[in-house]
Amino acid sequence: MLQEIGTIQTSFDTDLKSISSVQDLEGIKSKYLGKTGLIPQLYKQLGRLSPEEKKEIGSKLNDLRHKAQTGLSEALIAFEEKIFLEKSRKNMVDMTLPLPKAAYGGRHPITQTMEYLIELLAQMGFDVGEGPELEHEDFNFTYLNIPEHHPARDDHDTFYIQKPWLLRTHTSPVQIHYMKKYTELPIQMIAPGRVYRADDDATHSPMFHQIEGLWVDKGIHFGHLKAMIKAFLQEIFEMDQVRFRPSFFPFTEPSAEVDIGCVFCNGRGCRVCKQTGWLEVMGSGLVHPKVLQYGGVEDPAVSGLAFGLGVERLTMLLFRIPDMRMLFDNDPRVLTKAARHRHFPHIREDA
Ligand SMILES: [Zn+2]
Repeated sequence: MLQEIGTIQTSFDTDLKSISSVQDLEGIKSKYLGKTGLIPQLYKQLGRLSPEEKKEIGSKLNDLRHKAQTGLSEALIAFEEKIFLEKSRKNMVDMTLPLPKAAYGGRHPITQTMEYLIELLAQMGFDVGEGPELEHEDFNFTYLNIPEHHPARDDHDTFYIQKPWLLRTHTSPVQIHYMKKYTELPIQMIAPGRVYRADDDATHSPMFHQIEGLWVDKGIHFGHLKAMIKAFLQEIFEMDQVRFRPSFFPFTEPSAEVDIGCVFCNGRGCRVCKQTGWLEVMGSGLVHPKVLQYGGVEDPAVSGLAFGLGVERLTMLLFRIPDMRMLFDNDPRVLTKAARHRHFPHIREDA
C-alpha cells in the first residue's frame, strides 16, 4: 500500500504539471479526490489493516490527500494569475510612447474672413445692417431695379419657397431695408450674410456668403467709389494692382467689376487667373436712382455707391484654397489651415 501511495503521488505531480485549462484542473480533482477517486479508494482499504499499519499508512494517506488538495488550489491560483498576466500584457499601455497630437478646434476660414472684413469695413465707418434670409421677391428683385420678366431674375437660379417668398439670392435687399429704416444721412452700412442659389460646382455653392456695402450721401460720385474700394483691397492684399472694368448690374449705374493682380502669380499669369494675371474680387457701382427711390431717398442731390463681394472667393484667396467645395467638406486639413495674412489669428497648421 505504501508503494501505491508513492505511485499516486508521482502520477498526481505529473498530471498537475501538464494542465492547460481550468477544466484540466477539475479533471485532476475528480480523478484523485472525487467520491470514487484514487485517494478515497485507498481510504476504503484502511479497514483491512492492523491498528499499527493503520496508524502509519493512515498518516501517509492524510499527507497525500493534503498535498493533493493544496497542490490543486495552488495550481488554480497560479493558473488564474497566468491568465491575468497574459490578458494584461495584451492590453498593456506603453507609458513611454509619445501622445498623438491633439486636434485643436478653431473658427471656420469663412467665419475668420467674414469677421476680418467686417472689422476692416467698420474701421472705414460702415455700420452692420441685417435682413432676412427668407425674402420677399420685391425686396430681392423689384426694389433693386430688377422688374418682373427681367432676364437677371433667371440668372439668379432662385430657390422659391412659395411665391412671392424666396431665399435671398444676394445681400443687396438689405440696402432697401436699411434705407427704409434709417433715413438720416449719411447712410453707410454693410450687410454680411448667407445667400442662396441653385448652383453647385467648383466655384459655386448653393449657399454662400456675401458682404454688401452701401454709402449714400449728398454728392457721392465714382471717385469716392474708386478711392474707397482701392483702399479696402490694398489693406487686404497689400498691393497696388487694382483695376475697374465696366460691367452691368441692374441696381447700379454705372457699374464696374473690380479685379486685383493675381495673388498666386503676382500678375505673371497662372492657372488660377487663367493666365490673365488678374482675379475678379468684387462688383461695384453707383446706386441706380430707382433703387434710391425704392429705399425712400427722394432728394435728387443725394447719390450713393454700392459694392458686393463673395466671402468664399476672398477666403479661397486668403487661405489659398483652390476649390470652393473644400470649404464645406469639414476636412480638418482645410479647417485648420492658416491664412497667409498678417491680420489673421495664427492657427497651428500642424495640429
Ligand atoms: Zn495668377
